[in-house]
Amino acid sequence: MVRVSGPEAGRIADRMLKLKGNAHLSEQKRGMWYGTLIHPETKSDLDECVALWMPGPHSYTAEDVVEFQVHGGLQLVQSVLSAALMAGARLAEPGEFTKRAFLNGRIDLSQAEAVIDLIRAKTELASRSALQLVKGDFSESIRRMRQTLIRLQAHVEVTIDYPEHDVESVACARVIETGQELLTEIQELIRRGKMGRVLREGIRTVILGRPNVGKSSLMNALLRQDRAIVTDIPGTTRDVIEEYANIGGIPFRILDTAGIRDTEDIVEKLGVERSREALREAEFVIVVLNSNEPLSLEDEELLLQTEGLPRVIVLNKSDLERRIDGVEPLAGDSAVVELSLKAGRGLEELEHEMVLRATAGGVQMDDASYMTNARQNTLLQGVVDDLELAVEAAAAGATLDIIAVQLQSAYAGLGQVIGEEAGEDLLNEIFSNFCLGK
Ligand code: GDP
Ligand code: ZN
Repeated sequence: MVRVSGPEAGRIADRMLKLKGNAHLSEQKRGMWYGTLIHPETKSDLDECVALWMPGPHSYTAEDVVEFQVHGGLQLVQSVLSAALMAGARLAEPGEFTKRAFLNGRIDLSQAEAVIDLIRAKTELASRSALQLVKGDFSESIRRMRQTLIRLQAHVEVTIDYPEHDVESVACARVIETGQELLTEIQELIRRGKMGRVLREGIRTVILGRPNVGKSSLMNALLRQDRAIVTDIPGTTRDVIEEYANIGGIPFRILDTAGIRDTEDIVEKLGVERSREALREAEFVIVVLNSNEPLSLEDEELLLQTEGLPRVIVLNKSDLERRIDGVEPLAGDSAVVELSLKAGRGLEELEHEMVLRATAGGVQMDDASYMTNARQNTLLQGVVDDLELAVEAAAAGATLDIIAVQLQSAYAGLGQVIGEEAGEDLLNEIFSNFCLGK
């Protein structure tokens, strides 16, 4: 598909598209038109094509838009593109279509950012949450809160000039009540937004275990592809390998490690070092034990080190004779799953436990409706701080002009989240994250 947007779009189409009866696309009504694409200068035929004609303002960018849908193939798309350039178009910058949509008031900033997330979305759930944002639920909440805030602020500002004390205390009571309501709502927005990020960026998952217990094999099984190296020599996974696995719609960002253990081997040590680092940032842990061997001191240490983290303990190689014992007392409330990667048994149960435990009390399907990035989180946190100060000041009976300043700052912060107070630098920063053609 080749998309042209702007006031010249119709005339450009007329120069490169031959419709039945030599009609002009720019004079047609909105809709799909069948025609032949021609070279604007030599007039030779390029391809048949379906042209989507969407005069502004009812288009993605709110400008006149033509989309040429051609048969696949890079060669052909390129010749259509160069025909369009010859006919007077210029190449779009990355994200320019979305930027124009924003500048023309079609979408707000958080919706524009959601388009970026949509492009990057890694799993179904994550793309669903990006879609929700595109639809503007998040912006709607922010806008509603801004309205509440501006009404509250108006009340406070009006009251500042009143000398009577009881009028002032009514205003304070309202600041406390409304402020607390807003705080609850924003904090939930932040929580959901962060969960949305987890859904998009994945749950940092570390696979731990002594060499040769089957960590790499497990990673491969979870990814259903042969990415990590599997060998019979202990300690061959020298580096940390990281991949995304979509398990039950939840993205797990899985790290395979060299195993945490004491070693004199320098190369091995590098891997071990990274394992420790990985464990520090882990959001979920899979401890792999070899059920064919008695529980070793190292195993026990691993179980102790990972206590308290969301985790599943895997007893691998369950196709072999069972020699492991004493895991249960060290497992706490973690799930213990018997697995045989060789026989292909237990993987489903493991995946089930992973989803259950990684998301326990955390991610729900609803959480996918909001997703915030670092910029938005920082701003929202700033709004929380402002509101908390306002509420505290009101409770302490501070003068109203101090409260008004906090409310104003909260209002501005919320505006920045959806780009209503965004500066040019910020806009460029955001839109340069787009890929071409969006
Ligand atoms: P790592 O060092 O922990 O990454 O272990 P690997 O995944 O490299 O596996 C070590 C060896 O154990 C390989 O020869 C695997 O084929 C073997 N292995 C992995 N899972 C099983 C299993 O469930 N049963 C048996 N019998 N062997 C397994
Ligand atoms: Zn390995």
